[in-house]
Amino acid sequence: MSRLAAIIRGGLLNACGSGSGKAVDRYEQSLREYFGAADAVAYWKGRVALYAMLRGLGVGPGDDVVMPGYTCVVVPNAVRYAGARPIYVDIDPQTYNVTAEGVRQALTPATKAIIVQHSYGLPADMEAILDVARSRNLPVLEDCCHAFGSRWHGRLVGTFGAGAFFSGQWNKSYSTGLGGMAVMSDAALAARVRELTDATCASPGRLVRSVISAQLLAFHLLVFPRTFGLAMRVFRWLGRRGLMVGSSSVQEVEGQTPEGFFRRISAGQAVVGTNELRHIEQNVAHRRQLAALYERVLREAGWPTPLISPGADPVMVRYPVPVTNKAELLAVAEKHLIEMGDWFNCPLHGAEAPLGNFAFDPASCPVAVRACDTVVNLPMHRRVSQRAARRTVDFLLRYGRPCQDIRHE
Ligand SMILES: *Cc1c(COP(=O)(O)O)cnc(C)c1O
Repeated sequence: MSRLAAIIRGGLLNACGSGSGKAVDRYEQSLREYFGAADAVAYWKGRVALYAMLRGLGVGPGDDVVMPGYTCVVVPNAVRYAGARPIYVDIDPQTYNVTAEGVRQALTPATKAIIVQHSYGLPADMEAILDVARSRNLPVLEDCCHAFGSRWHGRLVGTFGAGAFFSGQWNKSYSTGLGGMAVMSDAALAARVRELTDATCASPGRLVRSVISAQLLAFHLLVFPRTFGLAMRVFRWLGRRGLMVGSSSVQEVEGQTPEGFFRRISAGQAVVGTNELRHIEQNVAHRRQLAALYERVLREAGWPTPLISPGADPVMVRYPVPVTNKAELLAVAEKHLIEMGDWFNCPLHGAEAPLGNFAFDPASCPVAVRACDTVVNLPMHRRVSQRAARRTVDFLLRYGRPCQDIRHE
């Protein structure tokens, strides 16, 4: 089925059907098969999948959870909704990932779990991090929201830890409008998450799921690299007026648990997700081609490129490039209708309250802070042709000023 056909079929199911049932089972089955996982459970956002797994691991008040200090605010929020405290680890300036040593130093007597993110799709050093975790008998959850299909020494990321979470939001490897999946290797964790979900997780109501389907259709028909900037402004405008189901509510960006947080994916989104998995190899091949193009052009021009560690086989969500004139470059890009991303623009991206509210101390993550000041990212989604990619990177070389080392600028 084409993507458009899947979106239309899913939309009809969401508007006329029950919103749950067989389509969701089928999507979860496809995910289990792709990852060879003990179980996979689909929710309406990635952060909800993380929350479910934290609960499944028994993380609660008095516990600490170690995580990168370069992430989306929704990650520490899920930890806080579970009642625990986030402890942040700084990132490596060349991979944007935490290191095993950084994780080891951040462990506290109260640490109950470790979250490892594969930033931009670059796999983190999983063996070394798992060794640190094993030394304290701690479970690892992988944040794979950027990394669908990435491999580490031949093995898919998302299969190393007890569990992993993925996102189906607009900017991710593939989109189901909104969406999230918990993919679990640990059978005991999987059983507890399934039980918790069956007992207490709601299905989205007809209005919400119909709006999500309409948004998916609008994105599919209207958003191209040249229309990206305008579309984002329109969607944000609609969002502020409550006319969109946005990815974060006002309550949430300020750090409170929103109502109706613990929700499943809808049947219509599951139809789209199953179809995406059926075509995943095309998606992966396209991303590899664009990464190779960006890397080649940047290298030839003497620009920095992300470090691909030995053993890493990334499928990247966006291509990060540090510049010394980030704000100016993004403004010029918008004027020239060049799609260029700004995230992460803050160590807890999307936070609208002071970072102290999230127990974040910038002094503990200086590299992450610098990365936020310098890194822009280039698009790699299906709508980016080789020509558009070439135009984007040529634009970058012309208007951007390379930052050779984000630690010293
Ligand atoms: C997008 C993202 C999330 C959250 O995904 P949602 O589906 O929006 O909840 C978590 N971690 C990272 C690194 C992300 O980029």
